[in-house]
Amino acid sequence: MDRSRQPFASSAAVRTKMQRQRSRDTAAEVALRRLLHSRGLRYRVHQRPLPELRRIADLVFRPARVAVFVDGCFWHGCPDHGQREYRVNTWYWPEKIERNRRRDAETTTLLAAAGWQVIRVWEHERPEDAADRIGAALAARRSPAAPPRTPPTPPTPAQ
Ligand SMILES: [Zn+2]
Repeated sequence: MDRSRQPFASSAAVRTKMQRQRSRDTAAEVALRRLLHSRGLRYRVHQRPLPELRRIADLVFRPARVAVFVDGCFWHGCPDHGQREYRVNTWYWPEKIERNRRRDAETTTLLAAAGWQVIRVWEHERPEDAADRIGAALAARRSPAAPPRTPPTPPTPAQ
């Protein structure tokens, strides 16, 4: 009989998860940064998009005014991996997670009001998919709102 086998303890698992909480340089963030960099995209890391607003984005594309937040599934209440509580016939986010979610929504609103585009990436999202979304947003922001250039005149067919 194997007495060294660890008993399953969900509370211990949760505690470990909470202790390992890191808001910066998470694996998801690092993987995404590496991929964006390899695609030739340049960004600032952990900066305030707006100096007067005390919110720090994980990635900031300042000329395009695109801010990226990589949200951890647990603390930001991912619908698939967040930890909800069952109370009175309804699922609730625990208070701390609910506060984070409200703050996230508020950050998005405030930045959007200042002309920024906010992209939220879940920790569980494939870095390739996130990088595609970011790349598409940057391309769209870069393309001028000016009228399209006149198409080149077709060559006159030889008589
Ligand atoms: Zn998730």
